[in-house]
Amino acid sequence: MLPVELIREIVFCHVDDATPEKPTDLVHPYLSRNQWFDDTSKAYWDSVSSLSLVSKVFREITLEVWFQTLVVREPKVHLADLSTIPGVAQWTRVVHWFNPSSVSEGLSLGHFSSRRSLMAFVRLRKLRIDAFPSDHSHILLEMFEELPLTVVELELRYLESPSPQQLVPAATLLPNLRVLDMHQEHAWCSLCNTCNVLRLKDDPVSIPYTNGDGLPKLYNRYLAPLSHLRTVRLSAAYTLDLSVGVGLQDLKTPWRGECGECTSLHLTDETFVSDWEAKNKEEPHPPSLREVTWSFALAQEEESSEEEYVDYVDKVTRVRHRFWKEVDHNSDDDSEWDYDGREWD
Ligand SMILES: [Zn+2]
Repeated sequence: MLPVELIREIVFCHVDDATPEKPTDLVHPYLSRNQWFDDTSKAYWDSVSSLSLVSKVFREITLEVWFQTLVVREPKVHLADLSTIPGVAQWTRVVHWFNPSSVSEGLSLGHFSSRRSLMAFVRLRKLRIDAFPSDHSHILLEMFEELPLTVVELELRYLESPSPQQLVPAATLLPNLRVLDMHQEHAWCSLCNTCNVLRLKDDPVSIPYTNGDGLPKLYNRYLAPLSHLRTVRLSAAYTLDLSVGVGLQDLKTPWRGECGECTSLHLTDETFVSDWEAKNKEEPHPPSLREVTWSFALAQEEESSEEEYVDYVDKVTRVRHRFWKEVDHNSDDDSEWDYDGREWD
């Protein structure tokens, strides 16, 4: 019999190897590759389950390691009875939350009639929330009534409109937050208060700030109460457009998410810039903030028509409802359909 420490190491390595790479695309995989169920942050059970068959000790460790990340696609199902496997609440370090619907759909289904709590997860360190594709709503963190004080990292992915208001609840729900990661196509422009496409004359390179600068003005204001926040990572998709006449490398002033038009019009105007810098300095900042990093990706050019998109979302909604309805009713009969995508065709 191998020592338990060695078994634990073997299981950790195996589960780690089987965990899919995190997608780097800024656009929701659902929209770019017609895939919904593929974007998971943990290993598929099929790829690790054999370890659980070796012995009782292997099984216990495998379950513990596998449940370090808990994927919540349907709160009513996945949070209802954690006692089915008693250790889960203690094991889970990361909750990966898929917003189950758009807000309008969610309201009609009663998803937001009661707010959720993750307080059962006493060792939770990270919360990742994937927004519903192309949902413009501002409801993300508002879904949670309370969150464990142990959470130090928040990752928000695929927000269609990352307005500063999205971040307001963070100050009260996550007072110990140290790392904020916002991974999406659109950046918030503090000058025109929109999330326009970033049009530039040449390819930008990643911008790292190490002095705590680099956040959009209102992000600073709303995140200022977070006294432990040290790192913020942000992203933006861009398109190349020579008529804009400016690249981010040409600027002599910090760029903080401003859209292409405002960058070109205002951030090249020295008089405007000095006034703008003064206003940014006046804003309260998170006191421990040091690293702010912007990364960029070329925007995907092909966009489906509005009609195609509506049809697409309808189809997705039908598939998902059917899936969860069956899960809800513990139906064993899945002969009529499958959720791997065949119903898409
Ligand atoms: Zn703008």
